[in-house]
Amino acid sequence: MALSQSFEITVVGGGLGGLTAALSLRHQGLRVTVLEQAAELGEVGAGIQTAPNASRILMGLGLRRRLEAIRTEPQDQVRRRWQDGSIIGLTPLGQHVKETFNAPYWHYHRADLHQIILDACSDPEGPGPAVRIRTGSRVTAIDRSDPQRPVAVTEDGTRYAGDVLIGADGVRSQVRDLIGAEDTLVFSGDMAFRTLIPGDLLRADPATRFLFDRFQSTIWYGPGRHLVHYLIRGGESLNVVGCVPCTDEVAEQWSTTAPAQQLVDAYEGWDDRVPAMLSKAKADVTCFALYYRRPDPVWVDGRVALLGDACHAMLPYQAQGASQAMEDAAVLAEELAGVTVTGVEDALQRYVRRRAKHAGMVQQASLRNKTFYRHPDGPEQQARDAALATSFDGESDVSYDWLWSGSPLDSAGQEQFAYRHHR
Ligand SMILES: Cc1cc2nc3c(=O)[nH]c(=O)nc-3n(C[C@H](O)[C@H](O)[C@H](O)COP(=O)(O)OP(=O)(O)OC[C@H]3O[C@@H](n4cnc5c(N)ncnc54)[C@H](O)[C@@H]3O)c2cc1C
Repeated sequence: MALSQSFEITVVGGGLGGLTAALSLRHQGLRVTVLEQAAELGEVGAGIQTAPNASRILMGLGLRRRLEAIRTEPQDQVRRRWQDGSIIGLTPLGQHVKETFNAPYWHYHRADLHQIILDACSDPEGPGPAVRIRTGSRVTAIDRSDPQRPVAVTEDGTRYAGDVLIGADGVRSQVRDLIGAEDTLVFSGDMAFRTLIPGDLLRADPATRFLFDRFQSTIWYGPGRHLVHYLIRGGESLNVVGCVPCTDEVAEQWSTTAPAQQLVDAYEGWDDRVPAMLSKAKADVTCFALYYRRPDPVWVDGRVALLGDACHAMLPYQAQGASQAMEDAAVLAEELAGVTVTGVEDALQRYVRRRAKHAGMVQQASLRNKTFYRHPDGPEQQARDAALATSFDGESDVSYDWLWSGSPLDSAGQEQFAYRHHR
């Protein structure tokens, strides 16, 4: 581990991407300050999955034991047909992915995952200098009058100078705008309903008890819409994401809440198990318009670089947005660890070269799944289902082998967890 570098990095945004970057940089001995606009750090009340490409990075950061305490492990990814719930295709997860990819496929509550990474950033016992975290710090300007020392300026005028500035400030990145990068944001025409359904209600109903027979990551394919669900916190809640055409109201507001009945109604006519599940959503559900960014290789300007949704926001149709941000974090840290302060700009260029094409392919594949998951019943749907019946891959065209292997890393911490040999 390179502990000799001590230049300073400012990360704007304390989401999963920004914090994973901060932790990865800390592990390389770099001094990091995270500026987060929210008064408190945290994540929304929803689930998240990390496929092996992301789990490997988190475990390489020494988080394995802590992740094992909060994760739920699905045994398969299953694709079901909308009308009768019949299984179109199945990808083994569980032990199979650990042995094949040397890293697990896990589910979590987002808040639990975020907290673990945050704790590791600030842990005084951890390797490298503890990350400085400043909440209530909304960055509104960047002063680059000294191009070697970009300064992030927060709303209240506080100035944070560093040798590198990373914009990990999400899909509507301010840093992106401040460096004059192109506006690549596209509205997909879709919205996502999101809710957590109490596990005890699902267990109590014979129509939904099947969810606990075998923990799975499930995608229901239907005409013009699809539905994703999986259990988190060991079955305490079912995380549900319903992706459907966007209503005008949600498109206008970007993000809002709706009565749970709207979610049930969105899947009218689907297999009985779907309304049985969805009608158990107790509170209002959240709904938000889904935007993505067009792939674009301009992630860097001088000593300012973008990371995560700020540069490659994608539809959540491969569950890869945060995972790709974690890959960014790992590559960025490797590149910055290998240089002295005079080599920073070249290191940032190498970061983009190693990541932009890869992330762009995942963005495109996620977009193609919008069509692939949702063929109306007919010849294309039949051809898709026939192909999925004999394949472990559930995606339109990128293979899980490619996706879950992740961007090649120099260090990767591969031996640290060695699932292939010890489990
Ligand atoms: C329904 C749904 C399901 C998903 N499921 C998965 C999944 O299973 N697996 C997966 O890998 N990905 C998934 N994703 C994608 C994933 O949630 C995102 O890609 C990921 O959270 C992006 O992380 P980020 O850190 O880049 O951005 P964000 O999480 O958006 O974080 C940006 C942070 O920057 C802060 N910020 C913004 N502007 C400023 C500013 N000016 N100054 C200071 N701070 C600022 C924000 O407050 C925020 O905390 C899903 C997405 C959706 C919508």
